[in-house]
Amino acid sequence: MTGVAAVEGAPAGGAGPPVDEVATAVYTVPTDSPEADGTLSWDATTLVVAHVRSGTTGGLGYTYGAPATAHVIDEQLAGVVTGRGALDVPAANEAMSRAVRNAGRPGLVAGALSAVDTALWDLKARLLGVPLVRLLGAAAGAVPVYGSGGFTTYGEQAQDRQLREWVAEQGIPRVKIKIGESWGAAEDRDRRRIGLARRSIGDAAELYVDANGAYTRKQAIRLGGRLADHGVTWFEEPVSSDDLAGLAQVRAAVGADVAAGEYGYALPYFWHLLAAQAVDCVQADITRCGGLTVWLRIAALAQAAGLAISGHCAPHLHAHAAAAVPNLRHLEWFHDHVRIENRLFDGVLDPAGGSVRPGADGAPGHGLSLRARAAEPYRVG
Ligand SMILES: [Mg+2]
Repeated sequence: MTGVAAVEGAPAGGAGPPVDEVATAVYTVPTDSPEADGTLSWDATTLVVAHVRSGTTGGLGYTYGAPATAHVIDEQLAGVVTGRGALDVPAANEAMSRAVRNAGRPGLVAGALSAVDTALWDLKARLLGVPLVRLLGAAAGAVPVYGSGGFTTYGEQAQDRQLREWVAEQGIPRVKIKIGESWGAAEDRDRRRIGLARRSIGDAAELYVDANGAYTRKQAIRLGGRLADHGVTWFEEPVSSDDLAGLAQVRAAVGADVAAGEYGYALPYFWHLLAAQAVDCVQADITRCGGLTVWLRIAALAQAAGLAISGHCAPHLHAHAAAAVPNLRHLEWFHDHVRIENRLFDGVLDPAGGSVRPGADGAPGHGLSLRARAAEPYRVG
């Protein structure tokens, strides 16, 4: 229980032991094959890690994004956080938010802020010697996950293999594939791949699709009308997530749940998303939205609107927060990120059976530690 005495002795407004150091490391990991969704293709993914330290205790957070994110942490945020009490994470989050006013928050600045925020939550739980979910308080023991991949670059066999591995081998009863290939220009292939996906997973598993904003409104409504033929219950970003009125229009016209929110970089975006009646389920990304501090507030906003929240990508960084909210739908078990997290971290979770149980082993914090030797070949900064 290192640090508890320091908490009791802290001055008013103080916050226990100080953060002594904020440091960064950047790793770029090639994909196992070319990957693409409806509006982007890539062959490598970059992980930007924020390390924070108080005395001999360390905390770790991260975001997926451009290597320049590390410079934002080093130059804009480290000085704001260093010297602050390590236990008052919301105060540090607010100070960081105010400090980046002129840098501009959306995009990689929000990613940088999120990485430091999640590192600070990990540090606090480790200082107190408890799993992060115990610090937050659990709303449920298990966190449902869904297998996410099905890239448009995959051939039929590769898609079939991946979906069967999740459903038949790991017992995950929900999967998602990418559609909207080439900005919606390959609609026939989209429909064929949806049909093949249903055949791969059988009738019992849930099938989701994600267009990453590739379609026009009318195109999304036309295609959305066919989704019921294959039992598709989740239509993610049918149109651009900047087009809130378009999302609402698609939502009103199709039977599948419309979801969006992965590009929300601050709390007000989610207010606008909800006010526009744009989604049936709010997605939020803890590595972009402002960290765990803001992710929990987004969950509360969604709950007040009668909606559930789903964690977007970076599954191991979401797991403890996801277990702490009563209106969680599920967590995205994203192939690209799972592969990186399994390779670079000890303490990863097992999704067998379709859910994970963060904190079940009693490890403090989020339970992840960087495997330095395994990570070193990928280090670029
Ligand atoms: Mg998506």
